[in-house]
Amino acid sequence: MSIVNEGVEERRPLNFLEEIIEVSIAAGEPRVLTRFPPEPNGYLHIGHAKSICLNFGLAKKYGGKTNLRFDDTNPVKEDVEYVDAIKKDVRWLGFEWAGEYYASDYFDQLYDWAILLINKELAYVDDQTQEEIRRTRGTVTVPGVESPWRERSAEENLDLFARMKAGEFTDGERVLRAKIDMASPNMLMRDPILYRIIHVPHHRTGNKWCIYPMYDWAHGQSDSIERITHSICTLEFDVHRPLYDWFIEKLEIFPSHQYEFARLNLTYTVMSKRKLLQLVQSGVVCGWDDPRMPTISAMRRRGYTPAAIRAFADRVGVAKRDNVIDLGLLEFFVREDLNKIAERRMAVVDPLKVMITNYPEGREEQITCVNNPEDERAGVREVPFAREIYIERDDFMEDPPKKYHRLSPGSEVRLRYGYLIRCDEVVKDESGRIVELRCAYDPASGGGSSSDGRRVKGVIHWVSAHHAVEATARMYDVLFTKENPDDLAEGETFLDFLNPESLVEKTVLVEPSLVSAAPGDKFQFERVGYFCVDSDNGVGRPIFNRTVTLKDSWSKMMNK
Ligand code: ATP
Ligand code: MG
Repeated sequence: MSIVNEGVEERRPLNFLEEIIEVSIAAGEPRVLTRFPPEPNGYLHIGHAKSICLNFGLAKKYGGKTNLRFDDTNPVKEDVEYVDAIKKDVRWLGFEWAGEYYASDYFDQLYDWAILLINKELAYVDDQTQEEIRRTRGTVTVPGVESPWRERSAEENLDLFARMKAGEFTDGERVLRAKIDMASPNMLMRDPILYRIIHVPHHRTGNKWCIYPMYDWAHGQSDSIERITHSICTLEFDVHRPLYDWFIEKLEIFPSHQYEFARLNLTYTVMSKRKLLQLVQSGVVCGWDDPRMPTISAMRRRGYTPAAIRAFADRVGVAKRDNVIDLGLLEFFVREDLNKIAERRMAVVDPLKVMITNYPEGREEQITCVNNPEDERAGVREVPFAREIYIERDDFMEDPPKKYHRLSPGSEVRLRYGYLIRCDEVVKDESGRIVELRCAYDPASGGGSSSDGRRVKGVIHWVSAHHAVEATARMYDVLFTKENPDDLAEGETFLDFLNPESLVEKTVLVEPSLVSAAPGDKFQFERVGYFCVDSDNGVGRPIFNRTVTLKDSWSKMMNK
């Protein structure tokens, strides 16, 4: 059996999952079928992206397939809005699933299997309250207490279970439990609950059911029904594995196997859907796709690319131990991809007016600018130039230090793709603030040359005052000031560490070509950062989200 490995450049050693697969291939079991099993109770985040890349990536590498399975066993928290968002995000990341399934599709089969367990005297209806069940479960060192209902006859259990399904009982009145071992050192093996009564309609099955399977009863069996070969989940599920295997063994069904890897954690980020929902509901952010969120939809809106996220997931690898990845690593891959694909434009964030005194009044010309020095095919564009321009306020210093190569009195600087200008005069208002620079340009210095061949080190960006367009730039920063907002002392909540400057909105002046930019378009504003046109772009006044700065500045700032 040959290993399908098209176009994958082998740069790193095999991860433990690839090793396992290659061992099975060598043993004559080449089939690889993975699944990505989100619960539709929120939007996908970058941790899910890691899991998606892993599941789809493994299948692709070994010529297998991946199913998308919605783990929709809890109607209280789930919604079809989330189902649609999840599908959109998986596709956007660049993956197509083989089968689309729902755990709820298997409710009938799961019910039948519960009856099978009852008949084998391996499951019973328990009349204890949730509270009693919790109390009698014992602790890691103390065995649990068996339920007084544990020895019910199969007939009685079948009857009660059917009546649970028929809706005769109220929420919490009874549960179905597996009969395993109340003294097991693994707490999950102490007669785990299989079904609970929830009188809530389900987004797919409507009012058909009022008993819903627990995660453990649904997950492994769903894997088995689909004949999943490698059921990959995060580390905290390793204690569930004995139960996963127990059900498969007792039901005598297809033996899927569960494998665990370390979940992805990122600095300055919370990732649990419960916390993300809290951020949305409390209005801290403007929605699941607020560009400060770690969700895939937020990253899309902010201007991250699928290729960058995939490269990041690949680099992070597959660990067996929990760790926290530096947010800077993700940003590194975003910059690397955008540098290749984003066209350059000029935008001035903090404008200072420059009057070019020897440039004829009323004249204007087009300066030819390169769209992307990294990609010749991106071509060139014309940018209007005239007597009055704006430059960045911090590209001028009245009293500069020695190695300052930008503009200062008497010195020369090159305007990006344009002329050399020399500063002759600084105009100030009464308070002493600089309001304008009077400069002279060298008419022979256009297009990167100068009349006498003199070389100038500094190059600064600019926009024509008359032609520039006002735009909104949303300068995003990390949402939390704490490196690990999940690591809290007594009495603290993650909301105590919100960064008050996670969003700073600025009016910027951009070159006129940007008026026609469409939502999702990505640019590098030269010397400023990468920006993406927002999805609710204003008419005539574009809104740009700062995707990422040009250089890593956040870690320095945070350490201040
Ligand atoms: P959360 O705890 O963030 O709410 P979850 O695990 O409940 O996430 P699910 O929808 O159940 O979310 O997860 C779908 C799949 O994604 C699971 O296989 C889960 O293990 C995986 N996954 C979730 N979070 C991460 C993460 N941070 N890193 C890697 N995989 C993850
Ligand atoms: Mg979950």
